[in-house]
Amino acid sequence: MTSRIVVIGAGLGGLATSAVLARAGHEVTVLEGQDWVGGKSRRIEVAGQRIDTGPSLVTFPDVLEQILDTYDEVGPATEKARDIAGITLERLPEVGRYYFKDQQANLPVEAGHPWHESWARFEKENGQLGPAITNLLTTDPTDPGILGAVLRLLSRYGTKLTTQAYLDSLSWMPDDVKDVVAIHTLNAGVAPDQTLALYASMAAVMSSDGVFVPRGGVYEIAKGLEALALHAGVTIHTGEPVVSVRKGLVTTERATYNADYVVSALDGGILEGLLGKQAPAPKVLSCSGVAIFGVLDEELPEDIVTHSVMMPDRPAELFDDLGKRVVPSQTMAFLNYYRANTIYPNDKPVAALLLTAPPNGMSASLDDEFVKSESRRFSDMLGLDRGIIERMTDYTILDPEYFSGFGAVGGALYGAPAPWWRSGPFHTPAYNSPLTPWLWRVGSSVHPGGGIPAVLGGVLIATRRMLRKID
Ligand SMILES: Cc1cc2nc3c(=O)[nH]c(=O)nc-3n(C[C@H](O)[C@H](O)[C@H](O)COP(=O)(O)OP(=O)(O)OC[C@H]3O[C@@H](n4cnc5c(N)ncnc54)[C@H](O)[C@@H]3O)c2cc1C
Repeated sequence: MTSRIVVIGAGLGGLATSAVLARAGHEVTVLEGQDWVGGKSRRIEVAGQRIDTGPSLVTFPDVLEQILDTYDEVGPATEKARDIAGITLERLPEVGRYYFKDQQANLPVEAGHPWHESWARFEKENGQLGPAITNLLTTDPTDPGILGAVLRLLSRYGTKLTTQAYLDSLSWMPDDVKDVVAIHTLNAGVAPDQTLALYASMAAVMSSDGVFVPRGGVYEIAKGLEALALHAGVTIHTGEPVVSVRKGLVTTERATYNADYVVSALDGGILEGLLGKQAPAPKVLSCSGVAIFGVLDEELPEDIVTHSVMMPDRPAELFDDLGKRVVPSQTMAFLNYYRANTIYPNDKPVAALLLTAPPNGMSASLDDEFVKSESRRFSDMLGLDRGIIERMTDYTILDPEYFSGFGAVGGALYGAPAPWWRSGPFHTPAYNSPLTPWLWRVGSSVHPGGGIPAVLGGVLIATRRMLRKID
């Protein structure tokens, strides 16, 4: 039996879902409001140079591998997913270099550095949890096979179930190293006391198992998933926002589509609006960002690595300000720097400076005091003789106002996070409710705070369940 399935949203979640469902033999249409596929993952050109915006680093690459395996398993044995998608991940030599107060250190921390011993112990105890976390990300929580992974993680954290509680319990770890580990909870957009303890382990797993960037840029993942979808026969309409969803009918500004099943791959709250319901105003929001993507007039010094992280001197104040949605005096920022002909096929060096910002929908420019002072602080920490912004010959700036265009209040990058005890298997909303068996959800609304691995892992769980039900 072939079902007609409409997937709303062509972000990574919607693309992967449509590819798997169509490969399993269903007639799938994807409806995307923007003019590009990839959603928050997007490719732009600045002065003729390629720069990918949105996500920059790939972690837990086995999740992506499982999407490719699933595509091969559910469909006819013709061309292999890996050949169609053509994604080649390159491992970075380090997770990144972290600049904190007067210290700087790569992760993993090199021998001889004052943080080396404590980092090595932390990585030894947590770095082996990668397979257990991957298992958790990709296995249906109702599957007894997940139990081993859960027990493995619980034996590490005991009763200390948040990142903050777990780090507080590590009496041997210097406070500065704890702060460096804890800052990674901003990958979920929230503070360490609002995230599961496994976010603490992420930094160690990334250090042990690596962080990756696809050759050509992270947008190659969106392109690869789109290629899989098209190969499986999916019809993708871009520039066609959905305006309402009812059982059996999805209406856009241009047409109405009949559907046996609808899959929402939208940010939290948007689907409720399309169903004619009022989404409750979120009490907590994840952070937003001001991102400046520029072409540099010359290469940066040799010692600047691909991914640099600037910490605030007092992280607790930053988390507090973000929670109150006010501009912090100091923030956490990334610099992603690609030399000419490295990762991207560019003939000039490019850099992306991402300043963590409050989710208040603000617009930003290079003249803002926050942007000026924090980019200057970062440039000084990197030891640059000329500021990073002054080195940009051309740039594009994306701000919380831009990010709110995806639907999340205030431009919250990861939507409205669920309380930590509701993360993972206990998330609400669920992928599907028995009250609306025709309606499914994947992506950011069911995995707020999750990056690419959580979104793609959710796709694996949801599509397996869905195919079981449909078949
Ligand atoms: C700045 C930034 C940095 C990040 N860095 C990383 C990173 O380094 N590593 C990592 O793993 N993750 C990172 N993430 C997170 C990652 O980008 C997301 O988890 C992932 O891209 C979300 O995919 P998605 O498909 O769930 O949602 P989205 O990409 O938001 O897709 C939803 C789609 O729905 C569309 N849509 C909305 N309303 C409608 C409508 N009415 N009709 C039709 N379509 C509609 C939107 O246009 C969008 O294309 C980052 C995110 C941001 C924003």
